Amino acid sequence: CGIVGYIGYRSAWDIVIKGLHRLEYRGYDSAGVALMNGGLKILKKAGKVSDLEAFAVDADKTGTTGMGHTRWATHGEPSDRNSHPHQSGDGKLSIIHNGIIENYAVIKEALIAKGHVFKSDTDTEVLIHLIEEIQTDSVDLLEAVRLALNKVIGAYAIVVMSKDFPDQLIAARKGSPMVIGVGEGEYFIASDATPIVEYTKNVIYLKDLEIALLKRDELIVKSIDNIIQTPYIQELSLKL
Ligand code: GLU
Repeated sequence: CGIVGYIGYRSAWDIVIKGLHRLEYRGYDSAGVALMNGGLKILKKAGKVSDLEAFAVDADKTGTTGMGHTRWATHGEPSDRNSHPHQSGDGKLSIIHNGIIENYAVIKEALIAKGHVFKSDTDTEVLIHLIEEIQTDSVDLLEAVRLALNKVIGAYAIVVMSKDFPDQLIAARKGSPMVIGVGEGEYFIASDATPIVEYTKNVIYLKDLEIALLKRDELIVKSIDNIIQTPYIQELSLKL
């Protein structure tokens, strides 16, 4: 039900957890975080954000790229294994998702026939396996996510991370809101501006059917039919 992402130079864990707390008013049943620290570190748990913090108290939480999620279960009961982030079969890709992939069952069946093994009952895990299936040496992460989204029916706000592209976040939306905060040498992503406002007032409201590639010092926005967009940066007047 809530999404927070960060790429920059500060502790991604600190920013993401603080942001998830700010989104708690939306209601949720589980929480989880992915951090880039060497590989992809996934920490997730059914329950409150504070339960996740207690669970992760002794974990290595270093890393300046990360994403976090609060889940409002639609497909699969609230549980640790159905919590987001979800991973590809090879563990190299990770996704957080708000919304519903309506045609997940058909895609899942086709992927199982190709040998994919699923660890959760969610619609979301199907999307990250689909991205894994599409990604090859000649198809980069942005393109793989873009092509996968073209096969999906439903609503989504997603963030994707890849061990092979450790300095990138990919974000996309259709029907679910998503805001990008523009800093200096850092970018923020969130379901609404409340997790972002204390760091920057410059935001971009991603439009439906847009996909964004975020690096520390570069932002590329495309439509999911592959047309480069010029993002409109606006100043927040929101006060906390
Ligand atoms: N449909 C997804 C799930 O059940 C995402 C739910 C949400 O928006 O939090 O895991």
